[in-house]
Amino acid sequence: MVDLNKDVKYVKTVGPNRVKLLNKLNIYTLKDLITYYPRDYQDRSKPKNLYECIDGEETLIEGIAVAKMTEMHKGKMTISKLTVRDQTGVCYITWFNQGYLRDVFVPGKMYKFFGKITIKGGRIEMNSPVYDEINQNKNTGKIIPIYPLTYELKQNTLRKIIENGLIEVKDKLEETLPEYILKENNLWEINKTIERIHFPEELSDFNRARERLVFEELLTMQLALLKLKNNYETEHNGIQFSKQVQMSDIINILPFKLTKAQLRVLEEIDRDMESDKCMNRLLQGDVGSGKTVVAMISAYKAVKSGYQAAIMAPTAILASQHLESFEEILQKFGIRCELLISSISKKKKTEILEKLQNGEIDVLIGTHAILEENVVFKNLGLVVTDEQHRFGVKQRSVIASKGKNPDVIAMSATPIPRTLALILYGDLDISIIDELPPNRKKIETFAVRKSMEERVNAFIKKQIQEGRQIYVVCPLIEENEEMGLKSVLDLVEKYKKETFSEYKVAYLYGKMKSKEKEEIMQEFKNGNIDILVSTTVIEVGVNVPNASIMVVENAERFGLAQLHQLRGRVGRGEYQSYCILKYEGNGETTRQRMKVMCDTNDGFVISEKDLELRGSGDFFGTEQHGLPEFKIANLFEDIGILKKVQKIAIEIMEKDPKLEKPENKRLNKLVKDKFNTRIEI
Ligand code: ADP
Ligand code: MG
Repeated sequence: MVDLNKDVKYVKTVGPNRVKLLNKLNIYTLKDLITYYPRDYQDRSKPKNLYECIDGEETLIEGIAVAKMTEMHKGKMTISKLTVRDQTGVCYITWFNQGYLRDVFVPGKMYKFFGKITIKGGRIEMNSPVYDEINQNKNTGKIIPIYPLTYELKQNTLRKIIENGLIEVKDKLEETLPEYILKENNLWEINKTIERIHFPEELSDFNRARERLVFEELLTMQLALLKLKNNYETEHNGIQFSKQVQMSDIINILPFKLTKAQLRVLEEIDRDMESDKCMNRLLQGDVGSGKTVVAMISAYKAVKSGYQAAIMAPTAILASQHLESFEEILQKFGIRCELLISSISKKKKTEILEKLQNGEIDVLIGTHAILEENVVFKNLGLVVTDEQHRFGVKQRSVIASKGKNPDVIAMSATPIPRTLALILYGDLDISIIDELPPNRKKIETFAVRKSMEERVNAFIKKQIQEGRQIYVVCPLIEENEEMGLKSVLDLVEKYKKETFSEYKVAYLYGKMKSKEKEEIMQEFKNGNIDILVSTTVIEVGVNVPNASIMVVENAERFGLAQLHQLRGRVGRGEYQSYCILKYEGNGETTRQRMKVMCDTNDGFVISEKDLELRGSGDFFGTEQHGLPEFKIANLFEDIGILKKVQKIAIEIMEKDPKLEKPENKRLNKLVKDKFNTRIEI
């Protein structure tokens, strides 16, 4: 057997320099290397006639060399030109500094060329193609994998390294799925799968290989979820919170009337809390739908029944925000809230930990800091996690283990279609707030092209003069994160020097230290920054009521769900707010997607549309939906496999709930491995 965990540096052609670049792609071991799957393929096996060629497309052509190659010298550069023709046309091919090609092509003989076609005024050209003799298959005649995110590594280099990795494991990989599963579902065995996912012999190979890998990934997730659910459902072991404590007592003193949806959800929670069932509930609600107050009322119920509550938020800013809104109301009932984040002083922390253990703190609100071992509650009865996709199952279970079967509410602002939610969060009951509080001003959304830039900028200035603040978001550029940073920096530079030189412009970037990020966010919140430029979502739930415009650059590169999340960062105060989507390109799908954004503010409608209009799928990484991340599965494309796998997982777990039977040994290992990594299910 091969040692899949061996360091990638032992793979042929991988030196210290390349190790660093591979590490950047999260490739550390041989296993990581061979499971770094292509995002696309280039088919260099099917030639096109010249008259069928399309400008800008990478194409394989077959043609006869018309005459001997000509050569020109320009300074130090050698320019070689060759004219080829097929039965339908002529193509002019150019190479730069490839003098050795001089005598390669024999007039009258046929060759294959693969490269990018340009068509200028009807003239078909190709620059620096790779080539083969007509019956050779060195550089053409096959399907070539294209890998995602290569940083400074060239596609060719990475391809070669992966090829070397594959040679080492050839036919030596241990099967990970049970034989009966492979057979019943007509799936390829692992060795063939891994080989062909990288180097398919024909395009259909790729589909079969991918199907098997997606199947395995989703089956593992489903089994893990069911296992968790089995764990919770050692029924009737939950806390029964007091029926004497009425949620209405706190509801009646709120400064606003709860929406019907909030009330319905609270009823569901109340029922669970009073029963002896251990609650595990996903609370879904669009940005601004008022989830926080639901959490607060639930905490009230827990505390007044004699228990403590813990609220966990993904960032210190969000946690402080929650503390503020909780205290405002809960103080009136003598409920004591505290904030636990990593930046507080040691002294203060010791004090909090002590009070927590004595029961002098009723509600602890904080970040991951709450998960630390020395955080001990007197009697934790309720756990709420905000923006749940930031916390994996593991973290939820760590915090839950600080009490005796406390009730758990996981809040999420990512509206996903119900069908998908039911499968993905199979271990949770689901409550949905599908209504916004009344009198919310609709965020006006405009989709604009470059030509509108000046008007947009004038509008931004006007808003700033009226005292408002602006977010500007740029997309991450796929091939290279540094390029993403560059696009932010370029824009900031331009804003500072020219466009908005009279205003305060700052920027945020994903790779900044989180402390730095939070400081800038705080400055923005305090009103000391007029325009904040950033890449993608920094803090989903942050509340800056004074911000009135969200500008999204290259909006066509974002998923609809993500655009919706971004838009939700404005319109949180009394001011009319705007979302300006700058987009490029003429595609029909882009146009439709922009239209959806302009037409509706309803996150659930948008997520359904996202499913419908998923287009090429390229920009729709699951990350953008706040859904769990998969190595290869795409929940939107693979919903069919997901449904199938779900059925299979249920059958397996019914027969063998602990996965102890010999035939399920491999499944047990897959599930265990999954729990040992940072999982986001
Ligand atoms: P989210 O669901 O995105 O976490 P929040 O809980 O932060 O939303 O609520 C957004 C804002 O709406 C807060 O300022 C909150 O006080 C307010 N709010 C919540 N419920 C209502 C309601 N029923 N009527 C009016 N305002 C409400
Ligand atoms: Mg929130």
